[in-house]
Amino acid sequence: MYQPTDHSLPPGIYSSILDHCQSAYPEEACGAWWQDDHGKWQTQPWENQAPAASKTMQFWVSPAQVLPLLLAQDRGEIKTLGFYHSHPNASPELSPSDQDALEWDNQPTYPNVMVFVVGINPPLSPTTCLYRWCPLSDRKNHSEKSQF
Ligand SMILES: [Zn+2]
Repeated sequence: MYQPTDHSLPPGIYSSILDHCQSAYPEEACGAWWQDDHGKWQTQPWENQAPAASKTMQFWVSPAQVLPLLLAQDRGEIKTLGFYHSHPNASPELSPSDQDALEWDNQPTYPNVMVFVVGINPPLSPTTCLYRWCPLSDRKNHSEKSQF
């Protein structure tokens, strides 16, 4: 199960992701961030490939956007990898469809990939939550987590 974490993103990465999510509003934004094996952080905005009429409610990503990063992580060229997306007019809690996409038979679809969600609710400031996969054996507050 993906669980909120106290970790935070480097300030430059955080603001870059927020800028992308705010400029995409009212559509959902999506992308990735990572730290390479030299310690350099980067972000990569992805195109939301959902049908135009539904981009305010969902995002679709092509394997061509995701796979190179997963393969680089497998080769050890990426130390930290995360995917982000925004929730226009909603909180940054993982939605049921997020859960479906991120977990398969109680296992992470993308092992070792963190998830960052940005809630965009103008004129309020964005709200964010960073999630990481937590194996059942590592869960300390199981009753709390069942709300997700
Ligand atoms: Zn979502």
